[in-house]
Amino acid sequence: MAHRVTLIPGDGIGPELTEATRRVLDATGVEFEWDVQPAGADVMDEHGGNPLPETTLESIRRNGVALKGPITTPIGEGFRSVNVGLRVLLDLYAQVRPCKTYQGVRTRYEDVDLVIVRETTEDIYAGIEFEQGTPDAEELIAWLAAHGERVPQQDSGISIKPTSITGTRRVFEFAFDYARRMGRRKITAVHKANIMKFTDGLWLHVARAVAAENPDIEFDDRIADNMCMQLVQRPEEYDMMVLPNLYGDIISDLAAGLIGGLGMAPGANFGRGVAVFEPTHGSAPKYAGQNKVNPIAQMLSGMLMLRHLGEMDAADRLEAAISHLIREGKSLTYDMKPTRDDPTAVGTSDVADALIEKLQSGVAV
Ligand code: NAD
Repeated sequence: MAHRVTLIPGDGIGPELTEATRRVLDATGVEFEWDVQPAGADVMDEHGGNPLPETTLESIRRNGVALKGPITTPIGEGFRSVNVGLRVLLDLYAQVRPCKTYQGVRTRYEDVDLVIVRETTEDIYAGIEFEQGTPDAEELIAWLAAHGERVPQQDSGISIKPTSITGTRRVFEFAFDYARRMGRRKITAVHKANIMKFTDGLWLHVARAVAAENPDIEFDDRIADNMCMQLVQRPEEYDMMVLPNLYGDIISDLAAGLIGGLGMAPGANFGRGVAVFEPTHGSAPKYAGQNKVNPIAQMLSGMLMLRHLGEMDAADRLEAAISHLIREGKSLTYDMKPTRDDPTAVGTSDVADALIEKLQSGVAV
């Protein structure tokens, strides 16, 4: 039976990347029924000023799976980021960013194979902020003073960091389940429990409780600053990391840097019964419509989607084809060549054509 998947082309470079990826996914032989849905600034006028139409959300809820291209967040007042909107409205609480080196990619590291799981609803990122100088900020500072907590400077803006048992438990339960399904061996909980006892301390306490319920997967923990150093010195010692929102944002970019940068970094966002697959990078508007940018991060996101759908054989074949293409070094976009103006660089659609040829001729897994 065909998999019904919501396809959101997005804007900027999104449409050309999702088109290249859709063609490659179809060439794996897995049957898809693509439910193409709009989102982004370009479609606002047709949807009463809403960049994230209700019909698009309904499609994702109905199908449970979406492949999404990047979407621009215009700078300025009154525009809610579609990416944040999707995360909040679908309660996508776990972001997964695998970071793996493929032979032939220009990077300082070999044999990196990490999975970053980032909690995406809580923490200092929750958006609870009080602007410096407003009556609310002053009232909060006065309230804190009345409760024995002195803010170092009175002219402070304040952000609040909520961390709950519920939010922490569900992301660790997700991570252990993901580890088991994907054959991973170890989970490292990342935190600053030594400093923030009631938030990161709670995070670590709950992480240990969930780990005790999942003794088949190895578990340890690291303080976030030490984690950064360890990843730069010996990334091969780590397998999966689970992080609160802010550290997850920062450390997943660090990990993308280990494996060759944004063009190689896929991603997925999971909620209860719903998953949205998209690359880590944005919509790079200056390259839109030029058939120039690298589709590999979008295609690797498609490969993660195949695994989520249980299509392990097709996922293995697609990953092998991508790996082969990179190792050969011929049909690659400008960003993967030794210099950015390399005349042998090919376009986005040529990468798709080369991969389809490999899939059809059956490169070895
Ligand atoms: P970006 O990732 O779009 O681009 C930064 C630079 O990275 C580009 O100029 C380009 O040089 C390079 N790049 C990115 N993707 C590439 C690819 N596939 N191949 C080759 N080079 C690539 O980041 P930005 O410029 O900060 O953001 C642009 C827009 O994207 C913003 O509106 C931002 O809000 C949005 N954004 C969307 C998402 C998403 O949809 N999930 C994620 C991040 C940013």
